[in-house]
Amino acid sequence: MIRRRDNFSLAGRNTFRMDVSCACWIEYDSPEDLMELDLGSLPQPVMHIGAGSNLLFTGDFPGTVLHSNIKYYQVVADAEEEVLLEVGAGVVFDDFCAWASDNELWGAENLSGIPGEVGAAAVQNIGAYGAEVKDILTQVKCFDLERRRIETLAGVQCGYGYRDSAFKHAPMKGRYIVMSVLFRLSKTPAPRLDYGPLKMTFADQAPAHPVQVRQAVLRIRDGKLPDPAVLGSAGSFFKNPVVSTATYERVVDVVRGSGAGEGSVPLPTASGLPGPNAVPHYNVGENQIKIPAAWLIEQCGLKGVRMGEAAVYERQPLVIVNATGTARPEDILALERKIIDSVRQCFGIELSPEVEHI
Ligand SMILES: Cc1cc2nc3c(=O)[nH]c(=O)nc-3n(C[C@H](O)[C@H](O)[C@H](O)COP(=O)(O)OP(=O)(O)OC[C@H]3O[C@@H](n4cnc5c(N)ncnc54)[C@H](O)[C@@H]3O)c2cc1C
Repeated sequence: MIRRRDNFSLAGRNTFRMDVSCACWIEYDSPEDLMELDLGSLPQPVMHIGAGSNLLFTGDFPGTVLHSNIKYYQVVADAEEEVLLEVGAGVVFDDFCAWASDNELWGAENLSGIPGEVGAAAVQNIGAYGAEVKDILTQVKCFDLERRRIETLAGVQCGYGYRDSAFKHAPMKGRYIVMSVLFRLSKTPAPRLDYGPLKMTFADQAPAHPVQVRQAVLRIRDGKLPDPAVLGSAGSFFKNPVVSTATYERVVDVVRGSGAGEGSVPLPTASGLPGPNAVPHYNVGENQIKIPAAWLIEQCGLKGVRMGEAAVYERQPLVIVNATGTARPEDILALERKIIDSVRQCFGIELSPEVEHI
């Protein structure tokens, strides 16, 4: 079945709770419904959303928003050591994680609690606590809008990288609609406990059941990230910047207080910080160093800062929240601008948003 609504409010369809609307909203229940749609006859442009948990609507959307209600689980193969499970794109991703863990299948437990739906998970290559969806994804079944036919892509054809995939870039962006995802789940215990707090939780005894890991992950997430049902946000707002060694060294100088960075200013909260080790960083390649954006934002004194109805989340400065529930896109955009400008001024680093602006 296809349901169409004109001038539809998207307030309940994005986790930032932006009170905007679209000219046309279409929700469909099956692959056949999707293939039947004559998208050319609908208000343009056309976009597809899931739960709207990685989106910032910057105003009313003039075109058509599609949403999948394709919801099913189908065991495609049940072997001695693993199960291949096909899941409809409209299934809530965390419901899939719960299903897998409850059925004693390993692979999805570290991804528990990530908002959104299965279709978008394959687009975003979601990840958390040492796991990424690409680790368990073997195939993505899509509808190719250009050729108007179903295509099945192997995981390796999807161009997965850190929170990235070929679906997010031309020529695939906007052309492929994910209809279902095939996951490979393990029947033999395969806990991934590299992430510090998980390692500590299971230091004395390794988990015997994926539900134990799922519960630990949900507990850790609860303490750090806002629940979209309570406080609007789109999760991590910025990407962690990857910089050159020279830029990293400049940050170290700034923290030391030498102010060596071009255009650098004294840091509001960095006083008294010790030497280079105070700058958290990860080597991610030759002359490529990743610095946590949350740390940069906090060093600029912005943790908890409120502007209009938007705020930097007190417990995790990488998250911008709709502080009152009535924030407008302008509030979020103004705070985003302030954060980008401050980090540039303090450290000479340009933050870029992870959240997709529509
Ligand atoms: C509190 C909070 C915590 C979060 N934590 C994490 C985390 O730990 N790790 C992480 O990786 N992310 C995290 N996120 C971000 C977000 O949950 C993911 O990016 C998620 O995959 C978005 O899913 P969605 O269904 O809401 O997609 P949307 O935000 O609606 O869409 C995301 C993208 O997918 C496209 N899309 C959606 N459905 C389809 C489809 N069927 N076919 C083709 N394209 C489609 C959209 O066009 C858009 O480009 C968090 C978000 C919040 C609010």
